[in-house]
Order: sequence, then structure tokens, then C-alpha cells
Amino acid sequence: MNFKDYIRVIPDFPQPGIRFKDITTLLKDGAAYRAAIDALKELVKEKQIDLIAGPEARGFVVGAPLALALGVGFVPIRKSGKLPGNTVEESYDLEYGKDKLAIHSDSITPGQKVLIADDLLATGGTIATSIKLIEQLGGEVVGATFLIELGYLDGREKLQGIDVSSLITYE
Ligand code: 5GP
Repeated sequence: MNFKDYIRVIPDFPQPGIRFKDITTLLKDGAAYRAAIDALKELVKEKQIDLIAGPEARGFVVGAPLALALGVGFVPIRKSGKLPGNTVEESYDLEYGKDKLAIHSDSITPGQKVLIADDLLATGGTIATSIKLIEQLGGEVVGATFLIELGYLDGREKLQGIDVSSLITYE
């Protein structure tokens, strides 16, 4: 399946000059969504994984079904102020803006192997911050996997030492 055919590119969203990769056109197609999660599972199946962690909100729609497919748990990484329990937090820069991410302090047991999943790798800021949060809790990041990678933003550079995989690349 050519997954790129299911991604809609929307110019000038959310700001002029950004060509937003809209994954809702893939998600609404049951067969394509299923095939994409199956393909991500293939990419990471050799890894030993205890948990998947995904940043809100689109990291949930990739990470949670992937966790189910792999038979492991899912840990949400959320914007500051959204998680009800004790959290650790980190500030970060976005492709467009600035934000703070949080994770429940007791969501990862030290030594657990964690795979990060998200819809899209742009500058890598979101994932670099997610890695910091997971490592603060003693988790070991065994990789980061994405539906889409924007190759021209060099997100991989920011994720040195992390095994990065993606289904679709825009150069
Ligand atoms: P980064 O932190 O790598 O610069 O940005 C990645 C985050 O921004 C991801 O969580 C992703 O959801 C969001 N993002 C940035 N650009 C796009 C885009 O073009 N399409 C989608 N779907 N998400 C984007």
C-alpha cells in the first residue's frame, strides 16, 4: 500500500509557509489505518519493547493501536496541566511555537524498554523532549517510530543514538 496516497497536504496551516501533513484522511480509511499500524509493527517487531509512549494528541492514534498490536502497554505524554497524577515536565520548542510536556511520574519502572510513537517527525523537538521525560523516570528508549518523517527538517539529527523508523518520508 502506498501510504502517501492517504495523506492530505494542506498549505499554510497552521501558519503561512507550513505544508501540513494531514493524517485524518488515512485514519478514516479503516483498511489503510490498519495497514499502517501493521507496517509500523513490522518495522519494530525485532525490538524488545515493554511499553509504548506517545505524545498527545496524534501520538495517541498511532501509539495506542501499535501498543495493542504488540501486546504491550501505552503511556501518554501530555501537555502540561492535563495529567491528573504527579508528573515530571520539560519545556520545548515546536516547529511553530513553544510548549511543555508532562508524563506521570509512576508510568515507567526504571529499566523498562520504551518505544516512542508519533504521527510525524518534524524538527525532533517533541521526541527529544519525550526522551528526556522517559529517561528521567529511568526508562530506556529503544527507538522512535513515525507514520511520517519530514526529511528536510533533519529531526534525526536531534535524535542521535536513537533508532528512528518511519513509513513515509517527504524530502
Ligand atoms: P517536531 O517536534 O518534530 O518539530 O514536531 C512534531 C510534532 O508536531 C508532532 O507531534 C506532530 O504531531 C506535529 N506536527 C508538526 N508538523 C506537522 C504536520 O505537518 N502534520 C502533522 N500531522 N503533524 C505535525
